[in-house]
Amino acid sequence: MSRSLDGQVAVITGAASGIGKEIAFTLARAGARVAIADLNLDGAQAVAAQVKAEGGTALGVAMDVTDEAAVNAGIAQVAAELGPVDILIANAGIQIVAPIQDFAFADWKRLLAIHLDGAFLTTKAVLPAMYAGKRGGTVIYMGSAHSHEASPLKSAYVTAKHGLLGLARTLAKEGGPRGVRSHVVCPGFVRTPLVDKQIPEQAATLGISEDEVVKRVMLGSTVDGTFTTLEDVAQTVKFLCEFPSAALTGQSILVSHGWHMG
Ligand code: NAD
Repeated sequence: MSRSLDGQVAVITGAASGIGKEIAFTLARAGARVAIADLNLDGAQAVAAQVKAEGGTALGVAMDVTDEAAVNAGIAQVAAELGPVDILIANAGIQIVAPIQDFAFADWKRLLAIHLDGAFLTTKAVLPAMYAGKRGGTVIYMGSAHSHEASPLKSAYVTAKHGLLGLARTLAKEGGPRGVRSHVVCPGFVRTPLVDKQIPEQAATLGISEDEVVKRVMLGSTVDGTFTTLEDVAQTVKFLCEFPSAALTGQSILVSHGWHMG
């Protein structure tokens, strides 16, 4: 039985955990050969082993997305072992919360480097193969409702996630004539380690209970008080990878229970 992404090679950064891991499983189940690229090589290899145990083709790759040489080496390893990259999901990310006046400059630079340098460097590394012979491809950046909305304490994150819109739109224009499409997927809050860590941190900084952080700060603006799920995000990414033409490109797709309607 043929599947929608048979023959495609996908690299997902930050895929040892959370949203990236779910995307790796979802794209593999659709037939893609998946590279799980992460700072955490043991975690990446464990996810690759789980994908293989389900009958998929997967590779765990060590990659610090802020390091140009490491990114280039990782993408070269993927090309050598799985084939040239057709799909890039630039997903690796962290969160650091603090009011601007207390935000350490080193933390600001680290966060922007992971989200923005990482997106740029991985894109730059996969484009030559996508452009060669107009093979084309799909590049999806993991944005956030914070690509459109601000929240207190998240200056670096909100800045980085807004920045991804600019990169995706520029790539959509540059890559369009050569068959490369680009999007930003923008989830609301999803229960992953990244979010679980923030609940006690925000409760302490804002002086409210953890329950209030969840109900008021995280879900208060949604239409139904509900977390977005890993599956919601992964299915949206899969749909965008499957979409056959540049009728859909340069878009920001919000998956946020109506937190932001853009
Ligand atoms: P997570 O903490 O579960 O996973 C993040 C992964 O990124 C980890 O495996 C980590 O090792 C990896 N990583 C961190 N720094 C890296 C680096 N320099 N190089 C390579 N890998 C690195 O987080 P998550 O919630 O799955 O978040 C994934 C993405 O989704 C992030 O970009 C995040 O901003 C975005 N996002 C998350 C939510 C949410 O509510 N969880 C909402 C919107 C957007």
